[in-house]
Order: sequence, then C-alpha cells, then structure tokens
Amino acid sequence: MEFETLCLHADDNKKDEWGTLSMPICQSATFVHKGVDVESEYSYSRLSNPTRKHLENTVAKLENGYKAFAFSSGMTAITTSMLLIKPNEHIIATNDLYGGALRLFKNVCEINGIEIDFVDTSNIDDVKKLIKKNTKAIYIETPSNPLMQVTDIKAISKLAHEYNILVYVDNTFLTPYFQNPINLGADIVIHSGTKFLGGHNDTLAGFVVCSNEDLASKVLYYSKTIGGQLSPFDSFLIERGIKTLPIRMDRINENAKALVEYLKEEPKIKKIYYVGLNPSDVIKKQARGFGGMISIEVESESLAKKILKDVKVFQYAESLGGVDSLITYPMLQTHADVPKEEREKRGINERFLRISVGIENIKDLILDLKQAINE
Ligand SMILES: *Cc1c(COP(=O)(O)O)cnc(C)c1O
Repeated sequence: MEFETLCLHADDNKKDEWGTLSMPICQSATFVHKGVDVESEYSYSRLSNPTRKHLENTVAKLENGYKAFAFSSGMTAITTSMLLIKPNEHIIATNDLYGGALRLFKNVCEINGIEIDFVDTSNIDDVKKLIKKNTKAIYIETPSNPLMQVTDIKAISKLAHEYNILVYVDNTFLTPYFQNPINLGADIVIHSGTKFLGGHNDTLAGFVVCSNEDLASKVLYYSKTIGGQLSPFDSFLIERGIKTLPIRMDRINENAKALVEYLKEEPKIKKIYYVGLNPSDVIKKQARGFGGMISIEVESESLAKKILKDVKVFQYAESLGGVDSLITYPMLQTHADVPKEEREKRGINERFLRISVGIENIKDLILDLKQAINE
C-alpha cells in the first residue's frame, strides 16, 4: 500500500467484531481474563490497549519500523527511550535541539551519570572526533529546532554502526510523509505526536519507533514499568489526525514555500532559516519535502514584538505542526532554558521568531504578516 492509503488502512485487521469503521475508544483500564490458563491479548491498559495498539501499528507501518510505542507526550517518549542508555555511557547529540530535550539531557540525564557531548551533527567529522569507547548513541534532530540544520541520516548511521552505536532521529519536523529515518539506517525514531501527526493543536502525544525486535522488547519493558502511555481517547484523536497527514503536509509545504518567497522580498526580514531555501544536497537526497517550519530574524527587537502583538491570522503561541499557523518567540518560550550566551551565539536572539505554517489560504497568511510588519 502507498503512504496515503496506509494512513487510513495500515491496521484494518485490528478492527472489531462489530465492523466499526473507525477504531472505537476502548476506555477500559483492565480486561477480563478468558480463563486461568488462557492467553489473552489484553490484560491491563498500561501494557496494551486496543485503541492505542491500533495507533501504534499505524505509526510503525508509516515509519517502516518493527514496533511503535505511543506515549502521553513527546517528552515521555524521549525520556523512556533514554533509559536504553546507562550511567557512565556516552551520547552525542545535536547542539540545536528542542528545548525540552536539551533540558532533559542536561538537567536529568547528565546529572544521573550519562556523559553527553553536544555538536553540530551536520558536520560528520566533528561527530566522529567525539566517539569514545563508551559512546552508546547519537541523538539527532533533522531539520533541527529552531535553526533548521540538516544532518545526513545515512552518513551518521553508517558511521555509528561501525562502532555499534545506536542512532536516534527526532522526525517530528518532517514526519514519515517527507522523511523515513529507519530506511536511511536509524535505529530509533522519535516523534512529538502533538505536532504534525496529531496535527490539530489539541492533543499531546509522543512516539518511540524501534527498528528491530531487540530494541522493541527493551522499550516495551521500560514503558510498562514506568507508565506514561497515551490514553485511549488521545490515541483516537492522533489516529484521526494521521488520516489527513499527507494532504495537510502537502498544503503546509506549499504554503511555507510561498511564504518564504514573500519573506525574501520583505526588507525588514534580515535572515531566513528554511531548509527549502537553497536546499542542500543532503536534504534533497533524504527528504521529499521541506515541511512547514521557518525561522526568521527581523531588523529589531521592537519589530519582533510588534509582529507578535499585531498578527491576527497567525497566533502567537508555542508548539507547531498543526492546521493553524503559529508564531513563537524562542528566546522567551521553547529556548528560555538555554543559557543566554549560548543562545545568542547561535543566533537565537531578541530578533528571532519561529513560524509554523498551517493550512490557511496563503493570501491571508501573507497579508497578515505584511500588515503586522508594516502597518
Ligand atoms: C515538541 C517537540 C518535542 C516534545 O514533544 P511534547 O509532545 O511537547 O512533549 C520533541 N521534539 C521536537 C522536535 C518537538 O518539536
């Protein structure tokens, strides 16, 4: 089946005896055993739940993984997957990371005894130099948040596997519709399902997709031990979002391209970060679209604040990946916990804004930014 069809029918054989077309919300914490010595598929919803399982099977197929696990947020997914790394082991991570992941790595993992080096993973030689005897994983976000650095997943995987190192890829920004890390060699794919997969800015969710049985059995063990699974209702909502993922991504992709064409001509925009602007060979090779994420640097702090105050169609809100276009101020929101000096060195300053393009009519999006910038 092709991708668009899988979004609807990847797990049809999980449907129930009533023939319900959409997977019902199976709101039960526990399940009645069929007999003392009879194996049943479901016993308790922390282990497995029919609605969640249906969603997990769908996401596993879309990412071409062996198994997917759905969690209550992207951060729960990352935290659970990080339990594969033990104290005194070492990981190498993209330096431009989602703020919450950076906080987890620095303020939890590192304090708990995991060694971490942060580096621009788009430079393979720099990554190679950091590999040590105890290096267990390379954790990448590509494109990265919010500077849109692109890392070559295939090259990193090839390097990592020579040393028996796991490769994690946070695929939130491009989704499996545009990029398939496991096909390029990644071992674990992470998603904030809150973003494009859910797509409606109404539900928190996260995924860990494992490429093989060994990893899947470990993640299953940690997940059932810790909890943090996605609820049946939220599983239903994310599944419903995924049905329209391809058409949403197509529209978002087109809108973002058109918005960048406008931004290029707007004199008060000093810098544009967008992977589709002079796209690198790597992004062209490993992705089928550029997605909907754009960061900009405007001419002054007062203009950045004016835009946030004066937009009417765009909403000034955190998060990304939904049908509604959002603008956020990374300095105050997603990257507030990154030390000022480090933030500024990388260009995340008081003039820096991040845009998540939605599915509105592009004319309204351009007019809205034009008036917020100029009037
Ligand atoms: C939002 C986000 C996360 C965290 O996901 P939550 O669902 O908010 O917990 C992780 N990675 C990326 C790239 C994100 O954008």
